[in-house]
Amino acid sequence: MRQKIISLSLDTYELASKKANFSAWVRRKLMEEVEIINDRKEMYGAYCKSCDISYTNKLSFMVEYQYCKKCNQKCDYMGLIE
Ligand SMILES: [Zn+2]
Repeated sequence: MRQKIISLSLDTYELASKKANFSAWVRRKLMEEVEIINDRKEMYGAYCKSCDISYTNKLSFMVEYQYCKKCNQKCDYMGLIE
């Protein structure tokens, strides 16, 4: 296990204090998010005209500011493609 310090507001601190094992709860919530994303059908895309290479991801922000891995130019964001 590794540690990561997080900051909580008064409200979220109160909620966190009610969890019997806050660390286990955070680990479970993080993995739930991964499962939700993996279950998604939709796919977002970006395209580099110069290299004719497409980049896709299930998370829009991962390709919205995609730079081409071959020429390092900013790709055109294609939005939802599937
Ligand atoms: Zn390129």
